[in-house]
Amino acid sequence: MPKNALEVNGNRLWETLEASGEIGKLRDTGLRRLPLSDADKEMRDTFCTWARQAGCTVTVDQVGNIFARRAGIDDSLPPIATGSHLDTQMCGGKYDGVLGVMSGLEVLRTLNDRGVETKRPIEVVVWTNEEGARFTPPMQGSLAFAGDLSLTDVLGSRDADGMRFGDELRRIGYDGAAELGQSKFESYLELHIEQGPILDRIGIDIGVVVSGFKSRGLKIAVSGNTAHVGPTPMDERQNALVGAAYLITEVDAIGWRHHPQGGKTTTARISCFPNLPGIIAESAELTVDFRHPDPDAADKMLAEVKAAMVTASEKANVSMEIVESWMFGDNPFSDACIQTLEETADSMGLSYMEIRSQAGHDAYAIGKIAPMGMIFTPCNGGVSHNVQEEIELDRTLPGVNLLLNTIVKMANR
Ligand SMILES: [Zn+2]
Repeated sequence: MPKNALEVNGNRLWETLEASGEIGKLRDTGLRRLPLSDADKEMRDTFCTWARQAGCTVTVDQVGNIFARRAGIDDSLPPIATGSHLDTQMCGGKYDGVLGVMSGLEVLRTLNDRGVETKRPIEVVVWTNEEGARFTPPMQGSLAFAGDLSLTDVLGSRDADGMRFGDELRRIGYDGAAELGQSKFESYLELHIEQGPILDRIGIDIGVVVSGFKSRGLKIAVSGNTAHVGPTPMDERQNALVGAAYLITEVDAIGWRHHPQGGKTTTARISCFPNLPGIIAESAELTVDFRHPDPDAADKMLAEVKAAMVTASEKANVSMEIVESWMFGDNPFSDACIQTLEETADSMGLSYMEIRSQAGHDAYAIGKIAPMGMIFTPCNGGVSHNVQEEIELDRTLPGVNLLLNTIVKMANR
């Protein structure tokens, strides 16, 4: 790298990642760090300690988003922000989200080591509940910060056991006082593992994200009627589970129809009541996800899912309705951020490729209220949301160094 480019301390970043990977450990290598759980609290406490040790002021907002701020020479200027999430899936990896937060922390530590001051402040942000593995929708913290979800809705959302978000947030001590959206960002950058195989396969270490797939999520309720599984004739049954099954296979078929153009569908979750032997199911609930590189095609997929709901309901003699829906991926990426990232990479002699994001990220929500850019780094085989998620430090550091130098450039404007 050229002499004027800064470099992070790779070993320290790795040690930080490994230490965070001990919190909420599942099986040998994976994590189960659900939002607002005890493990989430421990991870948050640890991050706040590290941030304060790095000289940051730590603020928490009303939905538990954490802002670790390094003062600027002119501290009245809006900050350059970077961050991601520390919550994980039920069987999540150690780097999804975590890498972005810890890279932000490492940027601040490196600036401290070198005694580098910046004109603008820099904030490292931890967004609450990115994964949606316990409370829905996913990206609750960043969506609320961006004004796309109301405080009441977020605090009132409940997990599968009926626990209320607001109560759990207070229980772990992260019901902060800062109002939503209080911090206005000059720009927001997020570094994240790709969670797909492209960088790994091609052998390039940096992806500059230029657009995303439009993604939608639906929660669909299926209503039938309970009855005895013995005497009830087949033509009088209203089995919610059967209706759900018809819909699941049709949703999969929709994904296959759009597969040649890059479309995808998933029914990721089903719950059923009473879910017992001897009784026909009264209700079922499905969580369906679908995404497509072309926004118009994503809209078409939604129409197809709705049509499939009608067919499946008739076939199973049940009723279905969409009870919750969410969407992200409306071109939130800023040309200015993409350009600064690419110019900085060029000046550092780093090779990169432009890439599309196939997953949802907090950055999408923030892209609506501030110029936003993302850096992807490789993960082995593209494996993510799995305990086998792995990264290599050597292939990660170029992206983290790009983050560092881009933040410094932006923070001195
Ligand atoms: Zn993530």
